[in-house]
Amino acid sequence: MSARIIDGKAVAAELRAEIARQVAELKAKTGVVPGLGVVLVGDDPASRSYVSAKEKALAEAGMLSDDNRLPATATQANLLVLVDRLNRDPRIHGILVPLPLPKHLDEHAVIAAIAPEKDVDGFTPANVGRMLIDLPCYLPCTPHGVIQLLLRSGVETSGRHAVVIGRSNIVGKPVVHLLMRKAKGGNATVTVCHTGTKDLAAHTRQADILVVAAGRPNTITGDMIKPGATVIDVGVNRVADPKTKTGYRLVGDVEFDSARKVAGLITPVPGGVGPMTITMLLHNTLLAAQRAAGAGR
Ligand code: NAD
Repeated sequence: MSARIIDGKAVAAELRAEIARQVAELKAKTGVVPGLGVVLVGDDPASRSYVSAKEKALAEAGMLSDDNRLPATATQANLLVLVDRLNRDPRIHGILVPLPLPKHLDEHAVIAAIAPEKDVDGFTPANVGRMLIDLPCYLPCTPHGVIQLLLRSGVETSGRHAVVIGRSNIVGKPVVHLLMRKAKGGNATVTVCHTGTKDLAAHTRQADILVVAAGRPNTITGDMIKPGATVIDVGVNRVADPKTKTGYRLVGDVEFDSARKVAGLITPVPGGVGPMTITMLLHNTLLAAQRAAGAGR
């Protein structure tokens, strides 16, 4: 058996076309163009490539982008002044501060300074709290992308056993919540595994849906997967590859070749969850603009 591949690029393209249509509609009805303000500090390569992919996606969707770059030596005060300016700018509906920040900066304080109504990454304490008690909020982009991939691939989550590997604030914890909550794409029975888990395979072999966000290549191999399961690989890892121009290639956390022989559905890396993250950021920015224009949900 060979698993059906979940094509994240195709699902993302479908969603982005719908978002672009709604952006045009909002503009025609209210004159409001959704705007995203970005504050990129330093030159973390993953953040840089995320920001340039995001710029392209915003332009394609007809949205406005206000990019601000600060050197790695920027102070906490420099950063807070910029966030404050974006908080007060009526053209800006969403604010993105790619993480990680350089070590001398207080990430929690910077994120908490973002106005809750502009928190399109969904990372502020206020937004996380609202999400946990099912109040209107912004769903964090990668976890929301995972749920959309499941929904749009026809994977039933209700009543099924989902196993999530990872408990980070940006992926593992919110994925657990979204799979568990009583809503479309949720209502699953969820097990969470992390570095304190004993006998990981004993848990993963029980998963109808396995979401892997460990940040380590080969965390999951084919023998750890229940036959026919859906496997969502969130991991993005650079491994050395002298055959490529860059000297490295990207792999997920799942050993793809052995996993696809056992799984029923599987996401590739790249081309799985990755394209969904920016798509859900566009979705949240549109939502923020709709709300600001009084046309939102
Ligand atoms: P993290 O390092 O903050 O968290 C990793 C989690 O995995 C930890 O909670 C840890 O307990 C758990 N873990 C690690 N090794 C394990 C093991 N062997 N067994 C069980 N649990 C284990 O990472 P993160 O920020 O959550 O990101 C996870 C991965 O997802 C990374 O590869 C990251 O690059 C990727 N990522 C991708 C996207 C995307 O858009 N595709 C977005 C965010 C993160």
